Order: sequence, then C-alpha cells, then structure tokens
Amino acid sequence: MKTKILILGAGFGGLEMSTTLSEALGDSIDVTLIDRSDAFVFGYAKLDLLFGRTPEAGVRNAYADFTKPGVRLLRETITAIDAEARRVTTDKGVHEADILVIALGADYDVSSTPGVVLGVNEFYSVAGAAHLSTVLPAFTGGDVVVGVCGAPYKCPPAPAECALMMHDYAKARGLADKTRITVVNPLPSPVPPSPDTSKAILGAFEERGITFMPNTRVTGVDGKTVQLDNGSTLNCDLFLGVPKNRAADVVVAAGLTDGGWVPVDAFTLQTKFSGVYAVGDLANTGVPKAGVYAEGAARTVAANIISRLRGQEETARNPGAGSCYIEFGANRIARVDVDFLSGPKPFGTFHGASEALRVDKEHFGSSRRARWFGR
Ligand SMILES: Cc1cc2nc3c(=O)[nH]c(=O)nc-3n(C[C@H](O)[C@H](O)[C@H](O)COP(=O)(O)OP(=O)(O)OC[C@H]3O[C@@H](n4cnc5c(N)ncnc54)[C@H](O)[C@@H]3O)c2cc1C
Repeated sequence: MKTKILILGAGFGGLEMSTTLSEALGDSIDVTLIDRSDAFVFGYAKLDLLFGRTPEAGVRNAYADFTKPGVRLLRETITAIDAEARRVTTDKGVHEADILVIALGADYDVSSTPGVVLGVNEFYSVAGAAHLSTVLPAFTGGDVVVGVCGAPYKCPPAPAECALMMHDYAKARGLADKTRITVVNPLPSPVPPSPDTSKAILGAFEERGITFMPNTRVTGVDGKTVQLDNGSTLNCDLFLGVPKNRAADVVVAAGLTDGGWVPVDAFTLQTKFSGVYAVGDLANTGVPKAGVYAEGAARTVAANIISRLRGQEETARNPGAGSCYIEFGANRIARVDVDFLSGPKPFGTFHGASEALRVDKEHFGSSRRARWFGR
C-alpha cells in the first residue's frame, strides 16, 4: 500500500512540497495536491500587473503544466477539514490521507475595513491588481495612499515597493509634481527585522517626497477619505490597499487556529493533530508571510516524510531563513536576507539596490517556473 499524502493548496508551499516528494520518491508515493484555482501567480507579480509591466495572462502559471510522477493535482474547492481523521471534503468529494499538509496560504478579510473592497481598491489579489491597473491610466495626479489594514500581512516590504513603483509610474506620466504618496503601515518601520533595509527604504522615500506613517492602520475608506486607527483621516484620490490578512474560514472552522493562525512547532511544522502539518502563510512560526519561507517549511516537511518512508530518522528542521527582493524604483532591486530561527533574535543583511539584482530576482522566478512547471 502506498502512503497517501494529501496537500491542500498549490501555492509556494504546496508546489515545492509535492515537487520535492516526487523528485525523491516518484511513483512509489500517492500524493494528491488540491487547489481551487487554475493557475499559480507569484505574489510579487501582482505589482507588475498593477503597474502595467505584465498583462494578466503573463503572470499566470497554468496548473495544467504541473506534471510530476506520483502527484495528481485536482482542481477542487476545499469546504471542510477534519484534522483528527485526516479527512477533507471538497466541492467534488471526500479525500482521506495518512499524512495531511495544509498550505492554504492567507486569505483576506475586508469585513472589518469598510470601503476596502476585494478586487476593487486593493492590490493583494490578482483581481484587485488587474482592476487597479485599469484605474491608473485615468489618474491625473493628487493624493495616493498605500494603506495597510492590519498586521501581520504577506510580504512586509510590498507596501513600500508599491509606493516606490507608484512614484516611478507618476514620474513616467509627468505627474510626479502633482502626486503626493503616503504609506500607512501598522509596523514600526518598513522592514523591522532589518534596520539597514528600513533605513534605505526611508531614504528612498525622503528623496521622492513619500510620507511614511508607521504604527498606523487603515480602518476605513469613504470616498476620498481614508480613516486611520489613530482617529485622524487622510485625503485620498487613489487608494492602493493591503487588506487585512487571516487564515481561511475553512481552516478556522476546522479548529486549527489560535489567534487567527495555525499554531505549529516552528521547526517541524507539526500541528496539534497527529500526521497533520501546516506550512506557509497560515502557520504561526514567527517567520514572515513570504513565499521563500513557505518553501523552506515545505522542504522541511517533505524531507522528514521522505526519511520516515525510508525508515530513517526525521532530522530536517525549518531553516526560517530566506531572501526577499525589493523593488526600489528606477529599475533597481535591493535584497534582504533574514534568518528568523537560528539565533536568539531575527537577523537581517541588506544588499543595496542595483540593476544587477534584477537579474537575481528574474532568476528567482524563472528557476521556480522551470522546477514546478517545466518551462
Ligand atoms: C503584492 C505581494 C508581493 C509579494 N512579494 C513577495 C516576494 O517578493 N517574495 C516572497 O517570497 N513572497 C512574496 N509575497 C508573498 C507570497 O506570495 C506568499 O507569502 C506565498 O504565496 C505564501 O505561500 P503559501 O504556500 O503559504 O500560500 P499561497 O501561495 O497563497 O497558496 C495558497 C493556495 O491555496 C489555495 N486555496 C486557498 N483556499 C482554498 C480552498 N478553500 N480550496 C482550494 N484551494 C484553496 C489558493 O488558490 C492558493 O493557490 C508577496 C505577496 C504579495 C501579495
């Protein structure tokens, strides 16, 4: 009998996990990977979509191209998870597993932020980024607010990247003098674990006249007014929102969460249920919600499953370390490497913005496209 492994969510975590298992074990395993979507989109590609650098078709990596020995990818929507029984219900049926890995990412909750509408004035969903890309050409200058509605949120540097790219966009259209950009962020600095990165971002903001409001959260958007949690308001002609992030309803309903996220052993990704793991954005490991960290967690769980199936000791531990590329405007990219788990506190190293790092970022995407989708 083959061991049945069920992986929920074909994002960074699910794709990397099933690829690693397939590479090591091929047809000797029975992996089922489930996702409701028909394509994978890199998070950062939403910024390219928003600013018209890449059309929507160009950011989609069709799941039809994901073919791995021992893995079948099903397009189904997960509607219930019985973690105790390792049984999952979808819109098409019921799946049972020996090992269950939940990698459903972070969902968006706009119910607590009146005026923030999914697919309309936020750039964290593909639909939102695509819609805003059609709104931007009508922008003729004015107040732009890049507003975060809650923390933690995916990819902490993304709002700063959005502001710097917005500045480039306004400049290219001859609107820079008529445009004032404000970033509202609940974090105390743009990238708290790396003071050097935060300093460089704040320096770039100052050069461009971008205002950064730390420790502040957007609580509502009403016409041309943005409401903040400190009681004040901002004038706003264009709102580029980061909706409040949270674990998906189906994960909460399964009793897997505590404080909104799934508690796990940070090093093994094991949940409180035997044989059930959570990797990526929905797991509370103390590392940021970013694809590179989801990948590291997925590789760890995969390595331990491979060891178990080979009768070896399970020694893999989640590294909690990774590199994030940061769009700095003017075609330059910076990089920050942050290690969250190996020392007493997170430690970050900043690599200043350059055109050369764009090549690195492109390789980050193309290497994963080749590994997962064979192209
Ligand atoms: C604007 C932006 C920029 C970013 N930039 C970067 C960056 O530069 N570097 C980086 O590392 N990270 C970046 N990220 C973050 C990165 O995209 C996420 O952290 C990463 O995708 C998390 O991986 P995951 O596997 O946990 O979840 P995801 O990749 O989100 O995958 C979850 C999957 O689960 C599926 N799913 C959810 N619910 C259901 C359901 N009920 N039924 C079936 N399927 C379901 C979804 O369709 C999805 O495919 C960025 C994110 C954004 C929004």
